Amino acid sequence: MSNAEIVLSASNLTKTFHVGRTGFSRSKVSAVDDVSLSLRRGESLGIVGESGCGKTTLARMLVGLERPDAGRIEVAGRYVDSLHGAARRSLSRDIQMVFQDPYTSLNPRLTVYDLIAEPLTVHRLQPTKAARRERVAELLQLVNLSPEMMSRFPHQFSGGQRQRIGIARAIALEPKVLVCDEPVSALDVSVQAQVINLLRSLQDRLGIALVFIAHDLAVVRHVADRTAVMYLGRLAETSSTAELFTAPTHPYTQALLSASPHVDRTRSRLMGQRIILAGDPPSPVDPPTGCRFHTRCPIATPMCAEDQPALIEMTPGHASACHHKDRALQGRATAAESRLGSA
Ligand code: ADP
Ligand code: MG
Repeated sequence: MSNAEIVLSASNLTKTFHVGRTGFSRSKVSAVDDVSLSLRRGESLGIVGESGCGKTTLARMLVGLERPDAGRIEVAGRYVDSLHGAARRSLSRDIQMVFQDPYTSLNPRLTVYDLIAEPLTVHRLQPTKAARRERVAELLQLVNLSPEMMSRFPHQFSGGQRQRIGIARAIALEPKVLVCDEPVSALDVSVQAQVINLLRSLQDRLGIALVFIAHDLAVVRHVADRTAVMYLGRLAETSSTAELFTAPTHPYTQALLSASPHVDRTRSRLMGQRIILAGDPPSPVDPPTGCRFHTRCPIATPMCAEDQPALIEMTPGHASACHHKDRALQGRATAAESRLGSA
């Protein structure tokens, strides 16, 4: 695989927020810690994790809305080192974001035409108003909305339609990468599938690479070629989506899968087992030492509280950040055997 095909590459991204004071010390929120990922042309990467694990912060760094404390981002072969001026504008041609909440992410005072034409005007892509109108009409058709809706305002649309408008705006500049931050979680279940199918068809037809963020594994399963599982700001496991669902190796991924009502456990290595996570996720303010998951992990040992496990590739394309990944696999096999034995 040549480097030319990599459209997004992020290495060692870290972001800490400094929040209020408690006593003499200032509290620090470790939102994203040492996250690396890459994406090939036209590929889709799912990012999954519980609320507060740093997904939005990661997304905002990728599109240049938030500056990382450490780490580097390369989009379409160029380093992103400035959030201002011409560099910012040229970045926004290559990578765009679809926001979680279509009710707050569109300026209510602008018409659909204004909203979608804005990036075209900023980048002076269509010289005349007639050309811009034509392009806006074309974009509306791409997201299955009628061009006649151009002069309406966002409040005249349903949530699903508003998200389509947000998508039309995001693809107006033909970006190479679209970062979708929980694009359907604010929508009615009945329209979620339509928006997901729209994103998939745009990926196919326009060759756009997708970063698709969700808190639910079932959602990424149908969208993502590869999936990264996040826990408290760090990556726990990355794998092809198919292998993640059938052969998860990190205890956190196994717990997520076993808790998901949509996942067929009998066909995965979980073999019908349910793993219940102990307690709530700890706070990202002063996260646990060592492996951040050790306070809730069913197979944690003393070393897990001391040493932070690195994300290590076990088989090509499948990496896990667990000191006991071999045991986690072993455990599944043993549980399956004992059930077969007792049947
Ligand atoms: P997710 O999208 O997975 O729910 P976020 O990236 O929104 O997670 O948040 C990760 C952590 O960082 C949370 O604890 C959140 O409260 C904190 N956080 C996010 N943005 C800010 C900010 N601007 N200032 C302070 N803390 C923040
Ligand atoms: Mg979020």
